[in-house]
Amino acid sequence: MARAFDAHEVHLTGGEPTLHTEVPALVAALTGMGLSVGMTSNGERGRQVMAECSAAGLGRVNVSVFGTTAAELRVVQSERFRMPGLAEAKIRAAEQTIRAAVSNGVKVSVNIVVPGMAHVGRVVNLVESYGQFADVRMLTSIQDGPESVAAISEVLARVGAEPVLRTFTAGTSDERTLYRALGSRAVYVKRLLPVRLPDTCASCRFNNDTDCEEGYYGIRLYLTDQGEYMVGVCIQRMDLCVPVAELPKSGIVEEVLAFKDAEVRRLTREYGAAA
Ligand code: SF4
Repeated sequence: MARAFDAHEVHLTGGEPTLHTEVPALVAALTGMGLSVGMTSNGERGRQVMAECSAAGLGRVNVSVFGTTAAELRVVQSERFRMPGLAEAKIRAAEQTIRAAVSNGVKVSVNIVVPGMAHVGRVVNLVESYGQFADVRMLTSIQDGPESVAAISEVLARVGAEPVLRTFTAGTSDERTLYRALGSRAVYVKRLLPVRLPDTCASCRFNNDTDCEEGYYGIRLYLTDQGEYMVGVCIQRMDLCVPVAELPKSGIVEEVLAFKDAEVRRLTREYGAAA
């Protein structure tokens, strides 16, 4: 897959990658192929695996963080975390993962979803407590749309954020803006753009303003219960997955690469030279 898509970077998601017993070996195998490796984690076993993953070449970990106190976590998490003991353990695990990553030289982004105004105080606390040693990334909540956008603006105002850089990942829905806040802290705001693949998405039943939640975000690799590796283009359309062995004749590679090239040209025309 890396060769077919001329990929330079792989991102491990999950489930929860730190629960995979061989995650350091997976990182080593990928870096051994010359790929940069990142990971998204909820911090579950991050403290235990971070030193080994760092030694294997893990470059970045995005840790999803929901609060700095059990009360804050309760606002956004499931029933299970209504029990203060469990909520505190979850907050501690995320914090320990962040510290373990930083002390092992792995870059950290703290990911925070901001659903609405009621969450502004919680998010400002997170920027203050984590921003000193990690990038903080605020994500709009897809379900909460305008309310989420307004809440992010309020957080930015409260932490005195100034915009520095806007980045597009050409050919995907990923767009982010870097702000400097509270002195030199890096705060990103990540948005999903309504990007669609020209052929695959054209006939998709979700291709409208409300049902296509993520847009086209990039290529994914999955492992089925039967042990078969599958390539997917959309988290909402798992039926579009094809076995890796069938990738060369699926048309996906040509569509994705041509779309990316066209998007590089369009973005360069619109905003200037590509980085
Ligand atoms: S749901 Fe997926 S396949 Fe359908 S339009 Fe959106 S990105 Fe394309």
